Amino acid sequence: MGGRSTAGDRGLGAAALDDPVPSLRASQVFMVLCAPALLVLALAVVFVVPEVLRPGAAPVVLGAGILAQPVALLAVVRHRRTGRPQGWWSVWATGLIAVLTASVADEAFRQTAVTALVVGPLYAAMFCSARSMLGHLALALVVATGLAADLPGDALVRASRVAAVDMVLALTVAGLFALRARLDAAVARAVAARDRADALAARDPLTGLLNRRGLRAALAARPPGPLGAVLLDIDHFKRVNDSLGHGAGDDVLVRVAGVLAATVRGEDLLARIGGEEFFVLLPGLHPHEVAALAERLRAAVAADGGSPPVTVSAGVAARSASATDGAATEGVGPDVVDELYARADRLLYRAKREGRNRVCAEPGDRRVRVPTTG
Ligand code: GH3
Ligand code: MG
Ligand code: MG
Repeated sequence: MGGRSTAGDRGLGAAALDDPVPSLRASQVFMVLCAPALLVLALAVVFVVPEVLRPGAAPVVLGAGILAQPVALLAVVRHRRTGRPQGWWSVWATGLIAVLTASVADEAFRQTAVTALVVGPLYAAMFCSARSMLGHLALALVVATGLAADLPGDALVRASRVAAVDMVLALTVAGLFALRARLDAAVARAVAARDRADALAARDPLTGLLNRRGLRAALAARPPGPLGAVLLDIDHFKRVNDSLGHGAGDDVLVRVAGVLAATVRGEDLLARIGGEEFFVLLPGLHPHEVAALAERLRAAVAADGGSPPVTVSAGVAARSASATDGAATEGVGPDVVDELYARADRLLYRAKREGRNRVCAEPGDRRVRVPTTG
């Protein structure tokens, strides 16, 4: 998505966690709503209370109200194309409001209209960066000062009016920007917490390996292609628990996990998916290579030298890239994993039946059989 904005100019942390750009939509709505509002105001002034205008100002006010429409449309189109808030729109809005305000002869009306200058910097405070917001605010303050100073009254009255208008403008914009900053920070914290929770939910707390959920998620991100699977199960693990206790059993699980992790390749996915069952997915490996790796895993556990010594049995299954894979852009789906698991499980069962501490692969693949030790 080339049109996505950066975190710095996105603004309004109310962004939903799963959709980082809704404030861009809010920004478009803001511009689209402001334009007709200005036109309605211009029409009302020109046709309902024309007496508040300076002589000859009606066409200027009408023209400004009408011009607001295509300009807002242009800003929205550019916004959609670039995915970025349109800072120039804020400057334009300030200029337009200044023209409208200056066209008004009635003092009280002008005094009220000056406060509309808040629109431009308000937009910047909601959607643009801090620097941009300060620039737009400074411009609005200069214009507001000029317009407020132009109102009749003695020097002190004019100065107080300028101060009041500027203060309201600055405080409103600063308050909104502070609110937005707090929201952005809260959303950033929520996203970080969610990412941490996701990472935890994907891992087995005992061994630190992926769990079933993590395995599926990791696989979904992988490109399709040949995929090997090895299902390993510790032999007679119950005996370890029964004779040495559950804690010693846990230590064995951690030890075996470490041996397997040290033996697989970096791109392989290793998961603990049951009590003493481990599942390894091997992207890019062909059936005979998968069987060879399974044998290396079995041998590594048997030769580990830890106490108590344990062995594993393994079932091997593999899937070559199918005809549909070439066109696929998504990762490997859960059905593929389920199918590989079911096939590897049948072979694991056979390895157990045939005496344990061995690897069984499908007919046609290289089958590895190792005599049970101990
Ligand atoms: P086999 O060779 O046929 O696989 O025999 P086994 O004893 O390994 O298999 P069985 O299914 O009879 O026993 C598995 C045991 O694993 C039973 C269960 O209490 C134990 N277990 C499952 N999860 C854990 C765990 O997290 N920690 C420990 N210490 N033991 C566990
Ligand atoms: Mg077992
Ligand atoms: Mg088991």
